[in-house]
Amino acid sequence: MLIVMKPDATAQEIAGVVQVIESMGYEALPMPGRQRTTVGLIGNDGRVDASRVEALAGVTEVIHVSKPYKQVSREWKPEPTRIPLPDGTVIGGREVIVMAGPCSVESEEQILTAARQVKASGATVLRAGAFKPRSSPYAFQGLGTVGLELLAAARAETGLLIVTEAMDPHGLALVSEVADIVQIGARNMQNYSLLKECGRQPKPVLLKRGLSATISEMLLSAEYILASGNPNVILCERGIRSFDTATRNVFDLSAIAVTHGLSHLPIIADPSHGTGHRDMVPAMARAAVAAGADGLIIEVHPHPEQALSDGAQSLFPEQFDRMMREVSAIAEVIGRSLLVPVGSTT
Ligand code: PEP
Ligand code: MN
Repeated sequence: MLIVMKPDATAQEIAGVVQVIESMGYEALPMPGRQRTTVGLIGNDGRVDASRVEALAGVTEVIHVSKPYKQVSREWKPEPTRIPLPDGTVIGGREVIVMAGPCSVESEEQILTAARQVKASGATVLRAGAFKPRSSPYAFQGLGTVGLELLAAARAETGLLIVTEAMDPHGLALVSEVADIVQIGARNMQNYSLLKECGRQPKPVLLKRGLSATISEMLLSAEYILASGNPNVILCERGIRSFDTATRNVFDLSAIAVTHGLSHLPIIADPSHGTGHRDMVPAMARAAVAAGADGLIIEVHPHPEQALSDGAQSLFPEQFDRMMREVSAIAEVIGRSLLVPVGSTT
């Protein structure tokens, strides 16, 4: 439930509403807005008796949030959430942000080369996993903490921000120390204890859609993170399982439009995992930006044929460079622009 205060409501009136909500046994979350403050009532699993707050001084309206997810819904917060990153970059604004890099950190030379290449083409964030969720226990599992150190070195040299995956609470503590954005992978989208931990650490979270998760389930997972204290969640459409083997997953473009309608959180697209084939990635990246994605996350490898994971879907650096020019043109058509950091050549 949302209690909307009058534009001229006083601090005392807002405090009065908070006090009544707390006396009813719920949590109150005051949210100052540009024109008026709203106070969220959190923790109700059913309908709350609105008459207790409706008549309080300074209250103009009480809104019942109809969706099972509350804080992530547009009903709760109509204006888009803008997520600030340490270099001043914002995700969820007019600019489209590109995250790019190899699937995994493999060596110092590989990650530094990849970082220089994606930076030159206009990426803002370097992606690469240090902790890898692999289908086979015998496949390359990632370099772990050494991988995190190499990512930090790549950031120090290039100025790129870092997004990398955390697979469990121990890894989350390590990733949260180093990364600018913590990635929660598709396989962990419904790991609710890990999501709660994400809510208790300070870094923005990139939450990838589960392999067979509905959009509503993805939003409920995001709700876990917000409900645990972290408002900075970036959603990610990365394809869902289907019967068709022509692509690795079915890249659900409509999820971008649907999610923007339901939630104020930004959503980015991962056409690399969405298709599984590098030749399909640029087309789906263009389509995702046209559909309104707030950013892209793209696998790029200096030598995809030698990659230790996901080589088939990793772009060659020159392919990525071309793709960046194309998506930049698409962004302009819909009144947005691609964020191109200082120092890149695009
Ligand atoms: C990845 O980004 O490399 C990855 C493992 O993605 P997902 O969790 O979407 O499969
Ligand atoms: Mn991958």
